[in-house]
Amino acid sequence: MEVVILGTSSAAPTVRRGLSSLALIREGETFLFDCGEGTQFRMLKAEIPRRKLHHIFITHLHGDHIFGLGGLLSSLNLSEREPPLHIHGPKGIKRFVDFMTTFPRPTKFGFEIHVHEIAPNTDGPIWETRDWIVYTAPLDHTIPAMGFRLQEKDLLGRFDSETADQLGVPFGPERGRLQRGESIVLSDGRTISPELVVGPPRPGKAFAYCTDTAYCGAAQRLSVGVDLLVHEATYGDAELELARDRKHSTIRQAATIARDAEAKAFVATHFSTRYEGPSLDVLAKEGREVYPSLMMAKDLMRIEL
Ligand SMILES: [Zn+2]
Ligand SMILES: [Zn+2]
Repeated sequence: MEVVILGTSSAAPTVRRGLSSLALIREGETFLFDCGEGTQFRMLKAEIPRRKLHHIFITHLHGDHIFGLGGLLSSLNLSEREPPLHIHGPKGIKRFVDFMTTFPRPTKFGFEIHVHEIAPNTDGPIWETRDWIVYTAPLDHTIPAMGFRLQEKDLLGRFDSETADQLGVPFGPERGRLQRGESIVLSDGRTISPELVVGPPRPGKAFAYCTDTAYCGAAQRLSVGVDLLVHEATYGDAELELARDRKHSTIRQAATIARDAEAKAFVATHFSTRYEGPSLDVLAKEGREVYPSLMMAKDLMRIEL
């Protein structure tokens, strides 16, 4: 699993920072979280594969998180894409997508676009496949906003074919049954139990994305034990009041969520445009007092999980 940060600025872009967007790539499939203006350009720069982009998760309807959708949809259509695209987001996202795909007249898309509106205060799983589940929980922002957690399912243990050969396990369905945890009986009457040839299950990875939000319990719940948490950190300590009024987090609050949720890695992002250069270093220092290994997000930064 690899996470690529595509945009790290709050509200408006700066010379160095684009607007909120993040790509997650696993097993060749790309997931997009938020789609601020300029997202498709940075996807190109970061060489994010678009053919297998099947799901876009939108946290909330503020323009800095969605204004890149129109351009991206248009380019996907030009690229002769075929598989359906699922866009998940709060109530209202459908109206926005409908507008972009029908103005000034309906665009004919070569692929299906399914928009899934998530009811306010939804708390739980919203999409599940054989390999992963995405959960959401309501965050605390000036308009309905939701955090997401992508959880891989545990993988079966590794199959030790060398030992299986030595034990005389034939090639075929017997090996599959062992892998799924069943014992088998060989033709000579010996019973082979799965522990002999299959390693322990490998826990799936988890990723959480929490923006925009004031300090809130839901963000912490979504982030429990994740391999990587990306949480907004719009302000520093000096702007605590502003953070409260505008329903954003200070970096210290974000770091507290990461620490208390025992996130294995934490990236702070969505910085106010007032911070650049040395003032960003001050922000980093405040956050690291709580979560020492905190990483400050940069556009096009890549994190391997
Ligand atoms: Zn924002
Ligand atoms: Zn917002």
